[in-house]
Amino acid sequence: MNSPIMPTYQRLPVCFERGEGAWLWDDAGNRYLDALSGIAVCNLGHAHVAVQRAVSEQSAKLVHTSNIYQIAVQQRLAERLMSLSGMDNVFFCNSGAEANEAAIKLARKYGHSRGMALPHIIVMEKSFHGRTLATLSATGNTKIQQGFEPLVEGFIRVAYNTIEAIEQVLAQHNDIAAILVEPVQGEGGVNIPDSDYLNKIRALCDKHQILMMLDEIQTGVARTGQFLCYQHNGILPDVCTMAKALGNGVPIGACLARGAAAQVFSAGAHGSTFGGNPLACSAALAVLDVIEQQNLAAAATQQGLKIYQGLTQRLAANPHVVDIRHKGLMIGVELAQPCAELVKQALANYLLINVTSDKTIRLLPPLIINDEQIELLVNDLSTLITAFTESL
Ligand SMILES: *Cc1c(COP(=O)(O)O)cnc(C)c1O
Repeated sequence: MNSPIMPTYQRLPVCFERGEGAWLWDDAGNRYLDALSGIAVCNLGHAHVAVQRAVSEQSAKLVHTSNIYQIAVQQRLAERLMSLSGMDNVFFCNSGAEANEAAIKLARKYGHSRGMALPHIIVMEKSFHGRTLATLSATGNTKIQQGFEPLVEGFIRVAYNTIEAIEQVLAQHNDIAAILVEPVQGEGGVNIPDSDYLNKIRALCDKHQILMMLDEIQTGVARTGQFLCYQHNGILPDVCTMAKALGNGVPIGACLARGAAAQVFSAGAHGSTFGGNPLACSAALAVLDVIEQQNLAAAATQQGLKIYQGLTQRLAANPHVVDIRHKGLMIGVELAQPCAELVKQALANYLLINVTSDKTIRLLPPLIINDEQIELLVNDLSTLITAFTESL
């Protein structure tokens, strides 16, 4: 059978019909525990009443006008985001890749303003920044780039979590405009850098007057225990990109800037038809309300620790488990062998998980996951992992 949908995704044989909090129901009425949140998107859980109300009330008034006009709800969202992030201004778009495109364009314009003929951006091995041409060129994964050459030029790749590698590039080049890095690598395998890595990058960027650009598309919106992951380090980046959980499933992306970086774009330099439209912005405002009112950053820290401790207790003695790591509710269980099969086995047990970078089981549960659901998750997942590794 030829599908009318291009086969860009390898889809699991399940179709969900409705959700509530951390639960999803398929079209046969089976209930699943969602420990993935649509890949770090539905941080408030499914069908959250605040988002529901915001979207329905806004859509009854106005879905879209244009950035040709003033948009009050976009203005309000920008103000809330600035007070939560410590940044100066924001460009709104519709996805993570678009937010990073804005950051890449901003870095290039910044470089040109400082007299660089061909400004370059330092990026990391195993990084993921999106699927547009520029963002896949910035991505540190040749599988994602294959077949799409010629890639976009202007990226220099170094090892993640290695300050010396960045220093070396900075010593050898005088056309570096920016460093683009994830505070925790998501797709790359839940790679958590040294606790002072971001501080050291901040110092290097200050010293060389280049932009520190953080891709917080997966780590943002309280996922790691702070509204933005860099807040663990007590620093501010020059540019920060967000998307995924910002609208709890309503598409919205944002490129935040500060200081000199906030002055780079002038009228006409960048744009988006849908970016920051009333519908998306009202959803995002509702998300920020709930995150603050329910202190979901603290919840991410607390519940993340419980899952980490539970899995560690159950799996520490398993020689096939290489590492269990987490930052808030971004959790990785690395096995010694490829384990993509576990996703299907979990699905058959009504549990939604993900495997990334071949060997790392990735959990990104909604921030509202409760203790009972955590117990179920820890029990079911460790039982599945134990059975899987015993079968090897
Ligand atoms: C998901 C993701 C992106 C891409 O976002 P899209 O909305 O799929 O374009 C970029 N960077 C990181 C770190 C991500 O996790």
